[in-house]
Amino acid sequence: MKKPSAKCPICEKPTQEATKPFCSDRCKQVDLNKWLSGHYSVPAVEEEFSESEISDLEDPRILH
Ligand SMILES: [Zn+2]
Repeated sequence: MKKPSAKCPICEKPTQEATKPFCSDRCKQVDLNKWLSGHYSVPAVEEEFSESEISDLEDPRILH
């Protein structure tokens, strides 16, 4: 019989009740950071740096 319980979307270990849908608080933070970086990076950086400065630095936050 298969259990209906889900795997952690970050590391695919079995989820824990306390940290659903993740296996641990650490994976929960990893997922949260993914969302935050995806939403914040564009408007926050544009005012501070010109386009040429960004390409020179190759800021890893810009890459997808
Ligand atoms: Zn995990």
